[in-house]
Amino acid sequence: MDLLEYQGKQLFDAAGLAVPQGEVAADVDTAVAAAERIGYPCVIKAQVLIGGRGKAGGIKVAKDADEARAHAEAIIGMDIYGPRKEGPFPVDQVWIEEASEIDAEYYASIILDRSAKKTLAILSRMGGMNVEEVAEKDPAALTKHHVDPLNGLSTEEARQMAVDAQIDDDVIDGVADTLVALSEAFVANDATLIEVNPLIVTSSREVVLLDAKVTIDGSALFRHEQLAEIGEASPPTDPQEAMAKERGLTYVKLDGDIGILGNGAGLCMSTLDVVANAGGDPANFLDAGGGSKAEAIVAALEVITSDQKVKAVLFNIFGGITRCDEVAKGIIEAYARVDMNVPLVVRLDGTNSEEGLRLLAEANLEGLHNETTMLGAAERVVELAKGS
Ligand code: GDP
Ligand code: MN
Repeated sequence: MDLLEYQGKQLFDAAGLAVPQGEVAADVDTAVAAAERIGYPCVIKAQVLIGGRGKAGGIKVAKDADEARAHAEAIIGMDIYGPRKEGPFPVDQVWIEEASEIDAEYYASIILDRSAKKTLAILSRMGGMNVEEVAEKDPAALTKHHVDPLNGLSTEEARQMAVDAQIDDDVIDGVADTLVALSEAFVANDATLIEVNPLIVTSSREVVLLDAKVTIDGSALFRHEQLAEIGEASPPTDPQEAMAKERGLTYVKLDGDIGILGNGAGLCMSTLDVVANAGGDPANFLDAGGGSKAEAIVAALEVITSDQKVKAVLFNIFGGITRCDEVAKGIIEAYARVDMNVPLVVRLDGTNSEEGLRLLAEANLEGLHNETTMLGAAERVVELAKGS
């Protein structure tokens, strides 16, 4: 789950880090009232889940109430596009904060380095610009340090990073303390990404976090009440992901046109691989779960077939605890309740598969194809997706 800038800043504030004070507003009058309370100059910042807002015209400094009104009018309701034309991201909210006087712009982040199975702290004196560009043109400008998973980031290690990154001498301690606090907040909040760009030094030489990009592991929300509330207030924007969340399904959208449904995460993963091997492009990952009762199958097929891109669906079952006759009943029920507008290839194997296959044969469902092997099923679904 991605947090908006102001939500990230509230998280930083709670962790004792220095952030500009501000207020959030969803309409122009509220924004102007907030600006009046905060004082001038203040900054009005579009709250959208995409970077490059500054360049897109979503961040403006106001020096009086008239400017605050004009900027709020311009920004609230505008569409913001990302640096790679992502979007549009319509602006529903702005964050108004006291303006900062900037002496230097640095970059700091804590990310999950999946290949190293560790978190990675990154610091650079080249802040305020696109970090991917910095990484490409001048990789030495990024100082990186893997954080020990048991001991965390020590002050000494963070200081050394600041020295290596050629941070100004007088703020080395402030930057190091910030890095340590960020890495602690990363763990405490089950974050998978914290990025601060820019991390600024003010004209009075204070270290302040001017921007916040925070991603929280959605599977850990159950142990963070406040973050979970944010998640509930901002449902997924993708229609299938929203449907799946509502139905309590584990669903991940992918780019292709073949719907995938399996019982068990491991089987789903290998089904994706086999379909890719057979020359197909999976449209999603969807684990119907161990039991795979009729309700779950109906819900899963509703989600998959609501995606207009899907041309054919593969349902791969290996019955262990799951009984194939139960699954067959679920499929038959789904055909009665869901508009199955695309072909469905079923591979049913394992516990009670004979009974399951018999039920399916008896039901004689239109557009349903049985296959006995996983590879055969993958080849069949690829063929059907290409044919339609
Ligand atoms: P992003 O463009 O979406 O990454 O948004 P940021 O929050 O990083 O803001 C972009 C840029 O706007 C920063 O790098 C600053 O240069 C500038 N900016 C943001 N807030 C202030 C402020 O309070 N004072 C000044 N002078 N510049 C600001
Ligand atoms: Mn930024």
